[in-house]
Amino acid sequence: MVLSIPDMHTHSEYSHDSKCKIEDMMRSQIEKGTNIFAVTDHFDSYCYNDYDIFTPIKKAYDTVAQLNKLHHGECQLLAGIEISEAFWHPDIYEKIKYYLDFDVIIGSVHCLRSKYYTGAYSGFDFSKPSQAVLNELLDLYFDDVLTMLDFMDFDILAHLTCPLRYIIGHYHREVDISRFIPKIHKILDVIIDRNIALEVNTSSFDLFNDFMPTTNIIKMYYDKGGRLITLGSDAHIIERASINFDKAVKVLKEIGFDGVYYYKKRKPHKINI
Ligand SMILES: [Zn+2]
Ligand SMILES: [Zn+2]
Repeated sequence: MVLSIPDMHTHSEYSHDSKCKIEDMMRSQIEKGTNIFAVTDHFDSYCYNDYDIFTPIKKAYDTVAQLNKLHHGECQLLAGIEISEAFWHPDIYEKIKYYLDFDVIIGSVHCLRSKYYTGAYSGFDFSKPSQAVLNELLDLYFDDVLTMLDFMDFDILAHLTCPLRYIIGHYHREVDISRFIPKIHKILDVIIDRNIALEVNTSSFDLFNDFMPTTNIIKMYYDKGGRLITLGSDAHIIERASINFDKAVKVLKEIGFDGVYYYKKRKPHKINI
């Protein structure tokens, strides 16, 4: 099978915020010309008291194995997981780390812990805070990414600049990203040093015409010598499978990249673009 551009970040009914069957996602990916993708359901460490966060991950893992047997040659599914806020609960992270033999582990920061609000970025009203507070919150976000990098063993850094999805995308506030450049440099240096891939998350393109991270940060990564790029649609519904990948590949080529990567058994493999 000649492999297409891989979609390394998708969700299914085994995530709290999706109802999508993995098989339906697979069909949609195939229709879009994608024959390799990762199922990376949420493992939201901070929710472990609210519901069972382990069983759905096992169900997704088993479904991926089953579909790979059934559809061998048509599509390759990779067994992944998106672990967020791991550093909030080291004990929970310890349990998931060796739980299953994942192909890929995505590391994410989805939540804010501050004097103003603690919880998911998606649940915060970003229309209210002053510009100074917004900057403070963003500063905390980049600190959390650095903490995660210190703490966690993972393969792909997901949606760097994630709060922009809400601040710019949903609340149409302006952000001067240049003030965070020193921290972003640090993050990029660490991921290059540790061979952690930088995800180009394409879900934000419809919201603010750019990716997460934004194109200037992807360029910074390239200029530092970073080459481990993965593409992630972050699709929670079939319509979003591999969304905006054509735009991302175009931008990546313009920057100078000649490939993107997928992970199998936690090792990167290159696909030329
Ligand atoms: Zn995420
Ligand atoms: Zn996700």
